[in-house]
Amino acid sequence: MRQAASDLKAGRDELTELDRRIGDGDHGSNMDRGFTAVVAKLDDAGSPETVGQVLKLVATTLMSTVGGASGPLYGTAFLRASKVVDRATVDPACLVSLAEAATEGIVARGRAHVGEKTMIDAWQPAVEAAEQAAGSGDVLDVLRAAAEAAEAGAVATIPLVATKGRASYLGERSAGTEDPGARSTAMLLAAAVTAAE
Ligand code: ADP
Ligand code: MG
Ligand code: MG
Repeated sequence: MRQAASDLKAGRDELTELDRRIGDGDHGSNMDRGFTAVVAKLDDAGSPETVGQVLKLVATTLMSTVGGASGPLYGTAFLRASKVVDRATVDPACLVSLAEAATEGIVARGRAHVGEKTMIDAWQPAVEAAEQAAGSGDVLDVLRAAAEAAEAGAVATIPLVATKGRASYLGERSAGTEDPGARSTAMLLAAAVTAAE
């Protein structure tokens, strides 16, 4: 979470520029504000006993600080993920369950499917890659597979026409710009890899 906060701060202008082109230009500041608040909450929380407790704190903080469409979506993702792990460490199978629960939460809330130019275009391939990597790999292999797939999924949103979220108001003009939420998802998963390395 601390690595994510640092990377989202560094990526703030990039996310803002993407959202300026096909949205309302606030995704960088939304994510930076949210994860800055997460770090402050973690500093206050002492040492949570389980991964689930950390994820729940992240969820409630993002829900109350990010705003926009992405706040409730990321909030729900972390809340669902928080419910599947009640211990201090994760193994590959657990990581897959976390990613599946997070993605199911985003779909339950936002009703987007792959190809609609949203963060789901990064999450869904990440989950599938994690599922495939889990059998043979360790935690870092699973994270790397997920992050690589999210990166490719985010880049693949560039030519798409948005049919969900604010970018859909632009119709055909949304094509040619990467989806900001798919980019922030790729940043989050890349931060998980960096933190685990
Ligand atoms: P807002 O659009 O309200 O300003 P943000 O700019 O923070 O919120 O987030 C925009 C991102 O939210 C989009 O780039 C997209 O990835 C994601 N998003 C919007 N609507 C949906 C949805 N229904 N399902 C999944 N993701 C969505
Ligand atoms: Mg926005
Ligand atoms: Mg907004």
